[in-house]
Amino acid sequence: MSYITSKNLQESDKEIFDILENELDRQSDHLEMIASENFTSPAIMQAMGSVFTNKYAEGYPAKRYYGGCEEADKVEQLAIDRACEIFKCTYANVQPHSGSQANGAVYAALLKAGDKILGMDLSHGGHLTHGSKPSFSGKNYSAFYYGVELDGRINYDKVLEIAKIVRPKIIVCGASAYAREIDFKKFREIANEVGAILFADIAHIAGLVAADLHVSPFPHAHVVTTTTHKTLRGPRGGMIMTNDEDISKKINSAIFPGLQGGPLIHIIAAKAVAFKEILDPAWKKYAQQVINNTKVLADVLMQRGYDIVSGGSDNHLILVSFLNKDFSGKQADSALGNAGITVNMNTVPGETRSPFVTSGIRIGSPALTARGMKEKEFEIIANKICDILDDIDNTRLQEAIKKELKVLAQDFIIYNKSTY
Ligand SMILES: *Cc1c(COP(=O)(O)O)cnc(C)c1O
Repeated sequence: MSYITSKNLQESDKEIFDILENELDRQSDHLEMIASENFTSPAIMQAMGSVFTNKYAEGYPAKRYYGGCEEADKVEQLAIDRACEIFKCTYANVQPHSGSQANGAVYAALLKAGDKILGMDLSHGGHLTHGSKPSFSGKNYSAFYYGVELDGRINYDKVLEIAKIVRPKIIVCGASAYAREIDFKKFREIANEVGAILFADIAHIAGLVAADLHVSPFPHAHVVTTTTHKTLRGPRGGMIMTNDEDISKKINSAIFPGLQGGPLIHIIAAKAVAFKEILDPAWKKYAQQVINNTKVLADVLMQRGYDIVSGGSDNHLILVSFLNKDFSGKQADSALGNAGITVNMNTVPGETRSPFVTSGIRIGSPALTARGMKEKEFEIIANKICDILDDIDNTRLQEAIKKELKVLAQDFIIYNKSTY
């Protein structure tokens, strides 16, 4: 058999081909404002869809359990070197299949079952893997939580108080829905005071850290994880970094053979391509634009009477609270969705509704910024968001805005047709 004359996807699997086309249209016509999503470049997708999907490379560069890994070694080493250059650290493991896998490996490397961890409460903006009950992190370890105050900010004195009572082995900092800068230095002081390891999960803010637009977790955190597909704009995956040789060895064993088998070398190749994009001077402009666009969103919504948790944002996202409104986060999410604006409902400080309904939404700027939208477009979109929320049951208005925004989206084409 040879694939030389084989059919392309359109001919060999029309069902999947059509779904891919529809998804490309959906991503092009809608305004993607989910704070954890982004658009990778075609170069990154090319690496992801490459022959490396065929290759087993269990182990690490120059220490593999399979033959034929010469090219895989080069790819993984480049990804590691570029990651260390971006985050100015000594060791990087680029094999985690996802952010959750990366976090699982940190715990597996540094904890025994039942050990105590202290992380940010999921309903206050933390992540499932920071000790939440339905997650392995809440099941296998003894999890305790800190949260935010009613002003939407972490109170570091309170974190210290809790840490002194709990005496955790690991303190997890980093969040999925927190609009303010995270003070890694203060977290390290807290960790030092109670003898804990500081673990920073920068999944959401890594792209800003890479541009020096958010303080770095280094040198404060003992170990750092991130996803590569959020603000880093790379392929879906995870990564773990440290400056501590002993921790790096434990992490490597925890990933393989601890939790994973063969690394996804095609995804690692794509991570390397993404890291090269991040090392380009243009990255800083992108990251700065992400922050500028978020500020416009926050300002317009506040001017129009909406309550922004913590009164603004330092990063790529805002949390809008509807505690003082007669509609829920779920209703807002659905109304905006009808108008082609994709966001997600989110709990807010002082939450009164269930996590399935919530009193807030989270809105992010990274994806639309990747399409080239700037302050002018964000001002238009922010006003449309307010128009919809002001008259939340007006489905006619939602349809009309959807048409207008589709025209706006078409001025910011992100992919050619047939880019999958
Ligand atoms: C998204 C996220 C993760 C998990 O990433 P997945 O790739 O979805 O597993 C972990 N931590 C934080 C803070 C996140 O926001």
